[in-house]
Amino acid sequence: NIFYDDDADISLLKGKTILFIGYGNQGRAQALNFRDTLNYTKTDATILIANLKDSYADRAHEDGFEVTQDWAKATSLADVIFLLVPDQVQPELFNSKIGPSMKPGATVVIASGYNVFYKLLDVPKEANVVMAAPRMIGTSVRTRFVSNAGYPCFVSVEQDATGNAHELALAISRGIGATKAGAIESSAREETLIDLFAEQALWPTVINAFTEAYKLLQANGCSNEALVHELYYSMEPAEIFEKCAEDGFVKQLVYHSKVSQFGQLNGALSLDGSEFASRFERVLKHQIIEGEFMRNFSKMEKSGTLDKEIELLFETAGKTELAVGEKLVFERLGHSYGAA
Ligand code: NDP
Repeated sequence: NIFYDDDADISLLKGKTILFIGYGNQGRAQALNFRDTLNYTKTDATILIANLKDSYADRAHEDGFEVTQDWAKATSLADVIFLLVPDQVQPELFNSKIGPSMKPGATVVIASGYNVFYKLLDVPKEANVVMAAPRMIGTSVRTRFVSNAGYPCFVSVEQDATGNAHELALAISRGIGATKAGAIESSAREETLIDLFAEQALWPTVINAFTEAYKLLQANGCSNEALVHELYYSMEPAEIFEKCAEDGFVKQLVYHSKVSQFGQLNGALSLDGSEFASRFERVLKHQIIEGEFMRNFSKMEKSGTLDKEIELLFETAGKTELAVGEKLVFERLGHSYGAA
């Protein structure tokens, strides 16, 4: 099912207090969209932001919101609570400060299924839990709302204490602009499986394939400049993915030459998929469904080693032929290297 603006009754939020916990990527975008929707639909409701006293809180102030550091008090007033702090931070924060202060019948909104699927949040029985999970980074959630384009978003009800959690989920989704382009009915389980699978199986395969391709072609005399431009700097792969979204994953191949069409299709169809399939299945079943990844990740977060582990992975990845070669090319092109 896909739900649009007309399916959502925003008046359900009239007179309510909407609390955004966290004013980061998603928090800022969703709060700004919500305020605009309330204004546009002439719905009277109060928006509150809870964030530590720092630059995020300053930004919320500058954007004209009321900001509090009193999590428990803000929670006790709220009818709708957007949980928009990083996933690894949510269990500790929610279980100590938010859950115990919630009023009966309030609704928790999650933007990712992870902590609900793995049952890491102690949500009171009297509360609703709904998911509105944008398939976009925060800046696009905002810019695509402003330009009236909307964005894809997964929506679901995970716990219905009041009997109208579905209607509330749609009203909340409308508030953040998620029903403009159509909110897709989903579940915390589905969102988690797809998201983690992409991150732990699909993209690692792509990263590994690019890294190995680079190494092999470099060893066969291809230059860093040619490789970096061909593989991604030209933005050709990004354009191909755009065409996939416009015309279809396979059908977009009509834009390629006959040499390319034959090479790509024949190459793909003659690959032995069973090697991928058995590895993919292991990741899905063991790491994701049985929770091995979540347990390891939580352990690192709790012991304070997560940031160091990620730093080490960046360090190792930075030593591959691709990473070393691209750094040289970026420097020669006078292109700043790295986002941070
Ligand atoms: P951010 O990393 O941008 O969140 C930062 C916010 O969390 C800031 O307000 C920060 O405030 C606060 N925060 C961080 N640590 C703590 C802490 N220990 N205690 C209290 N507040 C803290 O998060 P995102 O917006 O990226 O993610 C929020 C949710 O949205 C997650 O569930 C994520 O999975 C989901 N999501 C994210 C997407 C994305 O593109 N980023 C896309 C779709 C969903 P301060 O530092 O001041 O404490």
